Amino acid sequence: MVRPSRFVPGPLVRWFARPYVAGGSMAAGLETALALREEEGSLATMDLLGEAVHEDFHVLRHVAAYESLIDALGQDPRFEDRATRPTVSVKPSAFTTGEPAAAGVRLAALADRARARGVALTIDMEDRAWTERTIRWAVDLFRHGHDVGTVFQTRLHRTEADLDQIPAGMRLRLVIGIYPEPAPYALQDKVAMKERMLAYARTLLQRGVYVEFATHDEACLASFLQDVAPIAPDRCELQMLLGVPRSGFLRRHAAGEFGVVLPVRRYVPFALSWDDATAYLRRRMDESPNLIRSVLTNLVKPAKR
Ligand SMILES: Cc1cc2nc3c(=O)[nH]c(=O)nc-3n(C[C@H](O)[C@H](O)[C@H](O)COP(=O)(O)OP(=O)(O)OC[C@H]3O[C@@H](n4cnc5c(N)ncnc54)[C@H](O)[C@@H]3O)c2cc1C
Repeated sequence: MVRPSRFVPGPLVRWFARPYVAGGSMAAGLETALALREEEGSLATMDLLGEAVHEDFHVLRHVAAYESLIDALGQDPRFEDRATRPTVSVKPSAFTTGEPAAAGVRLAALADRARARGVALTIDMEDRAWTERTIRWAVDLFRHGHDVGTVFQTRLHRTEADLDQIPAGMRLRLVIGIYPEPAPYALQDKVAMKERMLAYARTLLQRGVYVEFATHDEACLASFLQDVAPIAPDRCELQMLLGVPRSGFLRRHAAGEFGVVLPVRRYVPFALSWDDATAYLRRRMDESPNLIRSVLTNLVKPAKR
């Protein structure tokens, strides 16, 4: 498959990354989480970009950075209040360069550390090669008393059956899924994926699961708030990516226009190097090619006087 972002030069990707990536250090990530709380009233889940993890020493550096992040969140007085303390999101593939099982071992050790520091962890969902084991790891850690959640992609046909694996009280983020998957395994039509998001959210809330409804689709968000969230408004939240502008919608939501008002959490990616940030942005661009168009349009637009 041709990846359109291949044609955008690195420095341009980096320039474009600014709204979407909190910066090139952990301190920058934490500052962004605080700013979101103050300026937008949003919570955060912090994600260390690991797209450039290719060698064993990258994995060790990645694990060490997550350990430092968890320590910082647990000890920094600015995050004293557990209710508003950022959560942490992790991608298993960045925890190994070889055997997937090695990722499971490292994630379990990280979950122990997170529990000791009072930090909640979410294991992000990657392509379908990871689905089975990611669910197993997350559910197992949750059942052993860790505040660990995971993510379901509604595009995958298997997800409907996977709903049964999630125990009451666990956190489950619902997304359409960012990884293109072939037709035998997944829906290809976004409208149908969104319909599934609403249906699965309803099922999960009725079963006592905590639902993190993650989309930027305003019609889908409005349907969730009006028709589904009232089932258990104390057991759900909205999630969006950092940098995707939704201020108008969020103002209407905060004013109660859609009925229930829920916590909103932004996914805050930060990098230890700009190589990682660039890889992340290229993936976003491949997902939404209209982003590339907007970068190029801004480039050729005459400057405002
Ligand atoms: C908090 C959060 C966590 C996520 N975690 C995972 C995960 O663990 N695994 C996984 O596979 N996927 C994850 N995703 C990605 C998700 O699966 C979708 O690919 C992504 O959210 C886009 O789908 P959408 O529901 O917003 O709908 P779309 O129909 O794709 O988009 C709706 C509107 O939002 C705009 N939009 C969407 N994305 C962007 C963007 N990046 N920048 C600018 N505008 C945008 C679109 O242009 C469109 O106008 C996550 C998404 C969020 C918000």
